[in-house]
Amino acid sequence: MELRIRNLSKTYANGVVALDKVSLTIPTGMFGLLGPNGAGKSTLMRTLATLQECDSGSVFLDDIDVLDEKDEVRRLLGYLPQDFGVYPKVTAYELLDHFAVLKGLTAKGRRREVVDGLLQQTNLFEVRHQKLGAFSGGMRQRFGIAQALLGDPQLIIVDEPTAGLDPQERVRFHNLLSDIGADKTVLLSTHIVSDVADLCANMAIIHKGQVLLSGEPQKLIDDVADKIWARFVTKQELPLFQQHHRVISTRLLMGRTLIHAYAEGDPGHGFEEALATLEDVYFAAITGRHAAHGELP
Ligand code: ADP
Repeated sequence: MELRIRNLSKTYANGVVALDKVSLTIPTGMFGLLGPNGAGKSTLMRTLATLQECDSGSVFLDDIDVLDEKDEVRRLLGYLPQDFGVYPKVTAYELLDHFAVLKGLTAKGRRREVVDGLLQQTNLFEVRHQKLGAFSGGMRQRFGIAQALLGDPQLIIVDEPTAGLDPQERVRFHNLLSDIGADKTVLLSTHIVSDVADLCANMAIIHKGQVLLSGEPQKLIDDVADKIWARFVTKQELPLFQQHHRVISTRLLMGRTLIHAYAEGDPGHGFEEALATLEDVYFAAITGRHAAHGELP
């Protein structure tokens, strides 16, 4: 299914503009919505999940008017919110079974089949009789996906699902999402660049309520391919480089400070051309160096 978002805007009562004319087209497959904290991702996710009203704009899921036909959307939607809480004293099986009843799966035999199947798909079958309070963060997120998949949704929205997962759990969670994304529309919001780099065929970068860039990750990387320059600097040199160059990121590498700068041509001063990554695209976009070069939505 295709999700078409046009000029979606939302200003909260306190005056914060959380969404500023957001337009995106989200095809079948995994779509990554990448942005820093406060960018407006959760506001967008909750609006698409029919849990919150926007001020203006339109959203269509194929022919369904998402902002108007909420019941219709809910039938096709699976949602894993950012703050997905579980009841710690019940088991995974009991809670998923309970959610299945709420989703309308009242026939016992069929329900058991579906619940068992989802627990297997999310690799939780072996631990289905353990209490959710004893689950690790990764297990809890996989349980969150299991409940989101009840009712065989065509649109799945997951809001910052990998925050706080250790590397092994993240890989496991990525594999699960990528299986699901094979034939559904999956919208993944995250502030972690590698979530998008690893998983998503299409993506957008959102910052301060606005879509800065959207497209295929590799294309966006190609757009900055010869414009990213790197060098090591000392801590003392750093401010000077920040003053004279468009430094988009600084990070420690084996105890030394590596800076990446954005420049149309060789900036000199000991910089060498770097192999551009999605991280460079992201930092260039949110530091305002690159917005005009990418494919605008
Ligand atoms: P993200 O999910 O990208 O972190 P959010 O959608 O949660 O972004 O928030 C976008 C902006 O809206 C932030 O500045 C946030 O503080 C503000 N915001 C979010 N929810 C509310 C609310 N209920 N009332 C007022 N401001 C809010």
